Amino acid sequence: MITRFWLFHCAFARVPREAIIQDGGWDLVRLPMLCGVAEHSELGPILLDAPYGHEGPSNVGSLMGSVMRRTGLEFQERWSVVARLEELGLRAADVGHILMTHLHHDHTGGMKSLAHARFHLSREEWDFAHSGSNRRSSMRGYARTDFMSLRNRVELRDPVPHLLDGTAGLDLFGDGSIEMFFLPGHTPGHCGFRLHLAEGPPILFVGDAAFTIPQIRDDENMGFALRTIASSMGGVRTSLRAIRRHIERHPEDRLITCHDFELGARCIKEGPISFS
Ligand SMILES: [Zn+2]
Repeated sequence: MITRFWLFHCAFARVPREAIIQDGGWDLVRLPMLCGVAEHSELGPILLDAPYGHEGPSNVGSLMGSVMRRTGLEFQERWSVVARLEELGLRAADVGHILMTHLHHDHTGGMKSLAHARFHLSREEWDFAHSGSNRRSSMRGYARTDFMSLRNRVELRDPVPHLLDGTAGLDLFGDGSIEMFFLPGHTPGHCGFRLHLAEGPPILFVGDAAFTIPQIRDDENMGFALRTIASSMGGVRTSLRAIRRHIERHPEDRLITCHDFELGARCIKEGPISFS
């Protein structure tokens, strides 16, 4: 049973709003890198994505990492995943499971520092992250060094059901606490998770299926950076339609995307925020 869920940021970047939202203008906004942790009464803390370990954005190479920091990526070591878990009174050593929406570098930097855990992700994502040369893969947004030594810690889920009307997701732990859904488009193997808390409505954690919640709710169009990063914009639109239909059927669900401006602003102002 999940008793509590926390959301916090591990970094934020200053980017022109236009990069994320079409016709959003060129003012700089804070794009957060968000991470979630669910407290499960039997399984211990379960992490959703693992953005940034203690080395921060250097997971893309020290040169590129320092360029990112000079161009507006704000990272502090006390925001890295292990430090965040400690801040919440949780022990990194107790984290047994980490659910990965996808393997882009801003979601994987903390994987090595939690290498004792099991990582759950789709087979499609793993295969795509390993296809082609290292250079090509890094151009697609992957930092293979974050996970290349972790193959024996990875549980490749296959098949993962699409988020469709009335279809149950993959029951990850056999207790109905977390369902996994296939939401491809941003990357070919991108997934989302629906968490059933002991109290309160479910949480629908959709990773980078959209960057902001208004992009899901209001049909706000995606900016150039998102269109460039997406492996298939057709897939992105199909996944967004599926999330919208799900929300029409389940308006009580609490939506989380990994880069939502408003959730990020709350986390930056208040520190980790609790959903329970
Ligand atoms: Zn991504």
